[in-house]
Amino acid sequence: MHLIDIKSMFKEELLKDFKEKGYPLYRANQVYLWLIKGIKSFDDMSNIPAGMREELKDCYYITNAEIKRKLVSKLDGTIKYLFELNHNELIESVLMKYNHGYTLCISTQVGCKMGCKFCATGKSGFSRNLTPSEMLAQIQSAQLDNNIRISNVVLMGMGEPLDNYENVIRFLKLVSSGDGLNIGMRHISLSTCGIVNKIYDLANEHFGLTLSISLHASNDAVRNKVMPINKKFNIEELLKACEFYIKKTNRRISFEYAMISGVNDSDECARELSKKLSPMLCHVNLIPVNDAGDDNCGYKKSSKERLSKFSLILSRAGIPVTVRRTLGSDINASCGQLRRNVNNVEV
Ligand code: SAH
Ligand code: SF4
Repeated sequence: MHLIDIKSMFKEELLKDFKEKGYPLYRANQVYLWLIKGIKSFDDMSNIPAGMREELKDCYYITNAEIKRKLVSKLDGTIKYLFELNHNELIESVLMKYNHGYTLCISTQVGCKMGCKFCATGKSGFSRNLTPSEMLAQIQSAQLDNNIRISNVVLMGMGEPLDNYENVIRFLKLVSSGDGLNIGMRHISLSTCGIVNKIYDLANEHFGLTLSISLHASNDAVRNKVMPINKKFNIEELLKACEFYIKKTNRRISFEYAMISGVNDSDECARELSKKLSPMLCHVNLIPVNDAGDDNCGYKKSSKERLSKFSLILSRAGIPVTVRRTLGSDINASCGQLRRNVNNVEV
């Protein structure tokens, strides 16, 4: 029999389903509370009668993210998790501690189709979309493992969130719901390589979450080389969609820019970028590109001097810019690296 993914259901859906099955309302509330707590099995729902637990098992399943490996940074306490899903599939999440609380960076797909040249996830191909419950399970596992409450979530792990639009939208509604984990949209960021039509859709949802755009180039010639998505939606179209997002949500957009030596880090690139972004309510995050394995397509980090000069040109043009603090740099905390290591060693 086809089992239903119970943790991907909205509370109203569960109430309706239980009602149709003839269970009293308070049972649905009890089960929902257990699910929010991150319980792993119906057998552990101690206030639910044994017979009913068996009936539930015949209709539903509970999604878990099991910790397969965990690396703790000696530098700053950042924790990188490798989670195992149902079918031996591996995904990564990264837990970061800031002054204002804990932030978890979660994955939205197993792998990614987008094929960005500098990205370890992009290089390993695509397996499948994650379900809403698999996104929630990453948060619950990290919370339970550390006995903490996660206050902020960033959709910046493996995968392209806007390529898994329906599931990501459902996840966002579930995670921000007062009945659920109650993490407000203002505490959520979503990062995309620039799937333009979906940026319009997201703006029209009126969520007010922070949108990050992985830009990584100041012109189409360079962006076409490093990010294949640019051949479908070029920079001009992307920035137009960003303007629309800002107009609809009144939220500042964050542009991510991985600095690759000799590829996108010249003064000329900085001036070109300044010109394109100066009319916008935005912020630029400069990140020295991380090693993504193999020869990283010959891509090397820009020098510190290059980063400072690039950042100076942007700030002189009036664009707010930061050089991203790289948390967990001793544990390969950037996208796709840990799974790659484990796959190489153990599988
Ligand atoms: N697919 C989404 C979100 C996941 S990638 C996106 O592309 O935005 C998360 C971030 O890591 C993106 O900004 C991505 O460009 C960046 N990234 C990937 N590989 C990187 C690397 N080797 N060095 C620095 N940043 C990298
Ligand atoms: Fe996919 Fe983002 Fe990596 Fe590009 S950078 S391959 S979109 S995960």
